[in-house]
Amino acid sequence: MRAKIVVLPGDGIGPEVTAEAIRVLEAVARKGGHVFELSEHLMGGCSIDRHGTALTPEVLAACQASSAVLLGAVGGPKWDDPAAKVRPEQGLLGLRKGLGVFANLRPVRVHPALVDASPLKADRLAGVDLLVIRELTGGLYFGQPKGREEKDGHVRAVDTLEYHDYEVQRVVELAFRLARGRRRKVTSVDKANVLESSRLWRQVTSAIGAANPDVALDHMLVDTAAMRLVAAPASFDVVVTENMFGDILTDEASVLAGSMGMLPSASIGAGGPGLYEPIHGSAPDIAGKGIANPLGTILSAAMMLRHSLGLEAEAAAVERAADAAVTDGARTRDLGGTLSTRAMADEVLRRLAS
Ligand code: NAD
Repeated sequence: MRAKIVVLPGDGIGPEVTAEAIRVLEAVARKGGHVFELSEHLMGGCSIDRHGTALTPEVLAACQASSAVLLGAVGGPKWDDPAAKVRPEQGLLGLRKGLGVFANLRPVRVHPALVDASPLKADRLAGVDLLVIRELTGGLYFGQPKGREEKDGHVRAVDTLEYHDYEVQRVVELAFRLARGRRRKVTSVDKANVLESSRLWRQVTSAIGAANPDVALDHMLVDTAAMRLVAAPASFDVVVTENMFGDILTDEASVLAGSMGMLPSASIGAGGPGLYEPIHGSAPDIAGKGIANPLGTILSAAMMLRHSLGLEAEAAAVERAADAAVTDGARTRDLGGTLSTRAMADEVLRRLAS
């Protein structure tokens, strides 16, 4: 197959980890006779430095015209002032909106060989294999009106939590579809005892559940879900939730795996290009040292092969190769080892080739 892949290395360790994921994609292309046309562009702090904006219209257009986008990470101390008018994260939000990716997928598995890296007790971690799906383009982060007003010497700040039925429907239907390739269980997380938007969420989700009886559906309040994610994480299969709850729960779930460096993510919409990135940030503390763990980005590239390019066998092969490398003891520093970024990717590439 032919595919145009846009790579946005970004800032900090972003370029170091995307370089290794590109080597893996090139190996997959060589082995399977595919043609991946890769093109790199600036996004994030590096784009602010060059163009005064985190995402230029040209780069967004290149992403929109691609089959998929691979992103490293953006940000760093140089651009960290939250009051600044231009900030690296604006590029991320612009990309998500511009690509119409309404669902963020974060799989979390605890590799048996890395149980000791997790802050949880080993007996809680057996069998943890969950997928959190966060609604990405609605809810509190995008609701209008938002803003501030001053009155009688006080400041009032407003954010609006708003959902349309179709926004809930498309992300929950995706959750059901993906659950079919897994253990056929969906947990929908809301705050329906308090929020009207959650009551709509639950109503729409219940209707989808009734129409899809082959998948088990349960509803859980977000506070209970936060507790159960650490108390009984293996009890979850697919978790689907609105934007802000998902923002918080995905970070909580990621801690289960021990290192941020291991975990991939995908943001997908209705058939357009998907956006694939590791869950970690630009890690300025280790940038430039060549010691970042590239597995989160390599596994994000695997998700790209699966969800945007339809190459399931190739995706699974990359995941098996990464898994085997870790099983055999390959460790970057975040996992207690000494391998460089490049050497860790070499371990994956060697197993992918065999
Ligand atoms: P971070 O994820 O960059 O780093 C947190 C810790 O994890 C650091 O100690 C770092 O060294 C370590 N770490 C992260 N990725 C690693 C990897 N692949 N291998 C080994 N160790 C790794 O989070 P932070 O320090 O809170 O944020 C740093 C910058 O990244 C900030 O500017 C923040 O805004 C930005 N950020 C960007 C994204 C994104 O691009 N999607 C996400 C989160 C944070």
